[in-house]
Amino acid sequence: MTLNDETRQQLIEAAVQARRWAYVHYSKYAVGAALLTASGLVYDGVNIENAAYPTTICAERVAVFKAVSEGERSFQAIAVVTENGGSPCGSCRQVLAEFGLDTLVIVADQDGKVTFEVTVGELLPGAFTPGYLKSEF
Ligand SMILES: [Zn+2]
Repeated sequence: MTLNDETRQQLIEAAVQARRWAYVHYSKYAVGAALLTASGLVYDGVNIENAAYPTTICAERVAVFKAVSEGERSFQAIAVVTENGGSPCGSCRQVLAEFGLDTLVIVADQDGKVTFEVTVGELLPGAFTPGYLKSEF
């Protein structure tokens, strides 16, 4: 999957803007994500922490779950913005892998500077995918 520069910048900017709404009462590590669907829509997400720590959810999964709950199943790219260009966690890599290994993952810092850009397949080699379950998709 390739994106043109304008689309890449728009997606990063959407993640930068979304990041303002992160609920990071405990870690103070705000994350914003913006997910571009195959149909051209953008769903954003932020990390949302909780006093019961394990119930916290990451920005990437919020964006994916918002999109999926609206009927989306195919994604072009996701931009993830953190203070220092931190990488998506294992749980988010797995959730992204469910919907395709070719989705582009663009990681940027709080100023929108790209720290790296890879596919989901590159982020999660050997991913467990729906194909293993032999379901009829
Ligand atoms: Zn995560």
